Amino acid sequence: MNPNDGYIAYIVNPKAGASSGKDMVREFKDYLSGQKYDVRTSITKSLSHAGQLAHTAVNDSGCAMVVASGGDGTIREVVHGMQGAEIPVLIIPCGTENLLANELGFDERTSTLIKAFEGGCVRPLDLGNAEGRCFTSIAGFGFDADVVKRVMDSRQGHINHMDYFWPIWRTFWGHHFPVFNVTIDDEELFEGRGLVFVGNISRYAVGLQILHRADYGDGLLDLCVFKCTSRPRLAKHSALTLLKVHAGRRDVLYRQGRTIHVSTPEAGVYSQFDGDPGPPLPVTIELIPHAVRMIVPPNARPAGIRTRLMRILG
Ligand SMILES: [Mg+2]
Repeated sequence: MNPNDGYIAYIVNPKAGASSGKDMVREFKDYLSGQKYDVRTSITKSLSHAGQLAHTAVNDSGCAMVVASGGDGTIREVVHGMQGAEIPVLIIPCGTENLLANELGFDERTSTLIKAFEGGCVRPLDLGNAEGRCFTSIAGFGFDADVVKRVMDSRQGHINHMDYFWPIWRTFWGHHFPVFNVTIDDEELFEGRGLVFVGNISRYAVGLQILHRADYGDGLLDLCVFKCTSRPRLAKHSALTLLKVHAGRRDVLYRQGRTIHVSTPEAGVYSQFDGDPGPPLPVTIELIPHAVRMIVPPNARPAGIRTRLMRILG
């Protein structure tokens, strides 16, 4: 890409974030301006506004590229707004977890953004879609959705990792493991108590490899069901997932497919999409293959558990 191709739409969520993210937003913009690119900044007012800004940018023939800065929620709305567009997007991770950015190989360095921009490596990203509600990374049903609901219910402004501690603790002691019915493509896969994860990325919070075979551009959704009826069993699942030996066990179901249906006969069972509260059950998730073109660092790999923990601890 060169400055004559068009302007760069620079979409910034001013509320997201750690200070390292804000530095990257400023430094990368300075770099682009120094290279004589026409950078046009828009500040988001809400998540849906982020999507509208992206939609407007990709429908403007003068725009050559989108840069989006924010957490997983902002990035999800931006890529949803760009769905089907030819022009690519580069993301600046500014949230708490940055699940998608981590999966694409970004870290907290401006030099990585510049490497991605100069490297010209573009990869397609699939989206999960439940009747217009999208996710880029992961949808959860049961335990983690309860945690997200508790965090959001007590949220005041920007959240950090510590804001998850008490919600996880309370959910661990109060969760009752609802009954789910899970269908993938035409297979009735599971009926029983447990935790259900559907997604597109191989590393979840703090780098947990729940969907270890997931590839964000392979045209498939990955599904993992942990059969679970009790706290000791949940502790065992967690430990085996940390050790990356959960898949292949009799009480863990792992599949890939294009359409996944999750329902429950119970009330008060929640979903989460990319760390935000998701739609009410029943939910049918369909894959939108190659929905957006992502600029990624060449040869980069997602950070693992150790690197993620080191970053959290600062
Ligand atoms: Mg996939």
